[in-house]
Amino acid sequence: TMTVAGFDPELADAIEHEKRRQELHIELIASENYASPRVLEMQGSVLTNKYAEGYSGKRYYGGCEFVDQAEELAIERAKALFGADYANVQPHSGSGANLAVFMALASPGDTLLGLSLDHGGHLTHGAKPNFSGKLYNAVQYGLDERTGEIDYAQVERLAHEHKPKIIVAGFSAYSRVIHWSRFRAIADAVGAWLVADMAHVAGPVAAGVYPSPVPYADVVTTTTHKSLRGPRGGLILARENPEVTKKLQSLIFPGTQGGPLMHVVAAKAIAFREAQDPEFQVYQEKVIANARAMANTVMERGYDVVSGGTDNHLFLMDLVKQGLTGKAADAALEDSHITVNKNTVPNDPQSPFVTSGLRIGTPAITTRGFGEQESRQLANWICDVLDNIDDETVRARVRDQVTNICRRFPVYESLQPPVVE
Ligand code: PLP
Repeated sequence: TMTVAGFDPELADAIEHEKRRQELHIELIASENYASPRVLEMQGSVLTNKYAEGYSGKRYYGGCEFVDQAEELAIERAKALFGADYANVQPHSGSGANLAVFMALASPGDTLLGLSLDHGGHLTHGAKPNFSGKLYNAVQYGLDERTGEIDYAQVERLAHEHKPKIIVAGFSAYSRVIHWSRFRAIADAVGAWLVADMAHVAGPVAAGVYPSPVPYADVVTTTTHKSLRGPRGGLILARENPEVTKKLQSLIFPGTQGGPLMHVVAAKAIAFREAQDPEFQVYQEKVIANARAMANTVMERGYDVVSGGTDNHLFLMDLVKQGLTGKAADAALEDSHITVNKNTVPNDPQSPFVTSGLRIGTPAITTRGFGEQESRQLANWICDVLDNIDDETVRARVRDQVTNICRRFPVYESLQPPVVE
C-alpha cells in the first residue's frame, strides 16, 4: 500500500502545499475555478487507461463499449446545455480546439481576423508567437479607446479591407457583452466564417445569463475549466451543417489529436450535468453580481475600470492614473495572499510583461461561497494594498483578513480534512 505520500514525499509535499494555497489564498484569476469532487473523481478514474482513437461506434481499438457510453453522454449533454446540433468533446484544450477549427475552415496563408492580445484577445486569435499568427495572415481588431468596448466599426472596416476567411469573436479579458449578431452581419457581408470562442463565458452562457453565440456563429469553441467549472479541456459546438461538422470531426481526429483523454471526457459529462442544475444558474448570477460589486467598489475608491464596469465575471483595473504597474500590483497582492494577474490595458504605456492593469475575475470566489458583501470587502482590501504599495504592515493585515475569510469559506470542505496552517 504505497500511497503517493509514502512513495514520493517530495511530490506529495508540493501537492499538499498547492491544496493549502487553494484553500487559504483568494483566487481572482478570471480563467480559474474549483472543479467539483465529482469532476476530480472522474479525472482520477481508470478511464485514463483506455485508448479510444476515433469516435463512438467507429473506434480504432477494441474494448471501447463503455467509454463510448461516457462520450455519448458528454456529447448529448453538451448539445442540450448549449442548444447546439453538434458537439465534439475530445479537444484536449481550448487552444487545440481553435487549431482544429481553423484548420477545418481555412488553409495556411488565409486571412484570420481576431481581437488583439493586448486588447483582450487570446493568443490563438492571431497573436504573432502563436500558431494562429504564424500559419495565417492574422489581422487584429481592438477596442474603441473612448468606450473600452469592441470597436465594431473597425471590425467592419478591416473585414472589408482584408476579406478574412475566418473572423474570431471572443476574449480572455473583456468585461462587456459581445454583440454576436453584429459579428454575424459583418461575416456575412464579406463571406467569412464566424468562429466564436466563448471560453471565458461558457458558464454564464450555459446558465442563460450571458448571450449565447451558438445561434450566430458557424462554430463555437470553448474551454470547459473556466467559468463552466469542469475539467481542464476543450469543446467544439456547431449548428447543423454537414459540410462543416464532417471537417471538424476529422480535424480533431486524426487531424490534430490521437487518442482522446477519456477520463477527462467523462469529467466533462459530469460538468455538463452539474451545469443543468438550477443551482448553477444561481451560481452564475452571483458570479456576475460579485464582479459588479467589486468593480463598483474599486471605482468608488478612485480606481479606473476599463469600459467603466462589467457585464460578466471579470473586470480590468486600469492603474495608469495611480502610476502603478500591473507587475508591482500583482506582486503586492500575491504577498497579501490574493492571486490576480497583471494585464495590459488599452493604450498601455508599459510593456506586456510589466503592464498597467490587473484582470480580476469572480468564478472561484463565488464557488467557495463569497457573496456581494464579501466581494466588496475583498475589493477594499485590494485597494488598501494598492494605495499603500510599499507598506508591509498593510499587507500583513490583509493577509490575516484573507486567512480568516478563507477559513469561513472552505473550498473542499467535504473532500478533505480542514487545512491547518
Ligand atoms: N480561448 C480563450 C478565449 C481563452 O481565454 C483561453 C485560455 O486562456 C483559451 C482559448 C485556451 O485554452 P487552453 O489554455 O485550454 O489552451
